[in-house]
Amino acid sequence: MPVPSADTQPAALCKATSASTPELLAAGRAASYKLRSQLMASGRRNPRQCMLAYNVCVRSAFSYGAQVWGPGHLCVEFDRAMQHPMVIEQRRFMQWAAGVVNPTLRLLYMEFSQLPFQVHWASLVLRFWNNLVKHPDTLCHKVFRDDIRLAVHSECGWVHDVWRFLRFVGLEVVVPSDSEAAVAQWSKCVVPIKSVLALYEQRLTVAWRDGSMLGSDPAEYSRGVGPHVCRYAHWMGLPPPMPDGCGFAPFPHASACIPKAQRSALLRFRLLKWDLAVNRPWIVRNRSDRVCKLCKAANFGTFVEDERHVLLECKCYEHLRQRYTHQGLNFTLPMLQIMNSPHTAALAAFLHDVLACRTALFGLMQDDPAAHDPVAALVLAGAILRYQAQHP
Ligand SMILES: [Zn+2]
Repeated sequence: MPVPSADTQPAALCKATSASTPELLAAGRAASYKLRSQLMASGRRNPRQCMLAYNVCVRSAFSYGAQVWGPGHLCVEFDRAMQHPMVIEQRRFMQWAAGVVNPTLRLLYMEFSQLPFQVHWASLVLRFWNNLVKHPDTLCHKVFRDDIRLAVHSECGWVHDVWRFLRFVGLEVVVPSDSEAAVAQWSKCVVPIKSVLALYEQRLTVAWRDGSMLGSDPAEYSRGVGPHVCRYAHWMGLPPPMPDGCGFAPFPHASACIPKAQRSALLRFRLLKWDLAVNRPWIVRNRSDRVCKLCKAANFGTFVEDERHVLLECKCYEHLRQRYTHQGLNFTLPMLQIMNSPHTAALAAFLHDVLACRTALFGLMQDDPAAHDPVAALVLAGAILRYQAQHP
């Protein structure tokens, strides 16, 4: 299989991929569509099941031969990793599984506890390297030694790309200037795969944690101008690490048995895709001006309408909070704890009911032509209370 260019420019990267692996891209895409149709036919739309099936059936198609062509595609940060044609296919599948359109990519990967394909390719490459090292009397090892000489003399080739990757993750790679000394040293060097992958994952996910915002009170985002990812990390939580430290484990709600409509409400809420004032694409309007229209119309006060307001503050949903307190949800806890509580099914049902209540209340408000009038606000408040009484 031809080895793609190690060019690091995005355009060149895509070109190298399409030049060397168009069949893989087509095969992976076909496998992805086939899996989607099979999952739809069998009614299995649980996102975790979808991703398990995807990683077994489709990721392998996208990764065929990555041991050889992979090293040229690894030295990328998260945003660059997203530009790879195969990774674009990966996130298309995830969007389909989540049932949302154009979510923030970092949120999508965090929500599904997934990493871009590049991490899997890096694992294959390093395992291939160690296999070469452990079989010194083979033809492959002879080619490996020749490739080390090529890397020393010409600074190109497979070994050179692996060294470049090891430097990219932060390791010190010392290569003797004498090619035979380099062969003697590196042809016996076993790479600590777990440690290298941990460093790579850290580099790819560094923006997920957004250290500049850590330590501050998440409630401040109600008034501040935090980007979506900050709200997600502080209110929904980061995916838990796997017990062995490699990759991320699924969130508790991913494994819970939740009806489809309720799961959709929960997923859209967690991905910041509800039609709340803070999520609308108003470029010129400040966050502080994005207030809850229901609270304002009913004279309950002026609050920024974000996920925290909906979950904990908005008086329009107080009757639902009281109802779901009996099902184990504790709305006196911080939002992060509520979103990661073991009562995920109750939380999904609560959010589903909030969505229905919200739609009904907006309908009431639109029915009242004088809803923005201060006097009419009292009427609307009465209507909301009546609605709450009718839907205990
Ligand atoms: Zn409100």
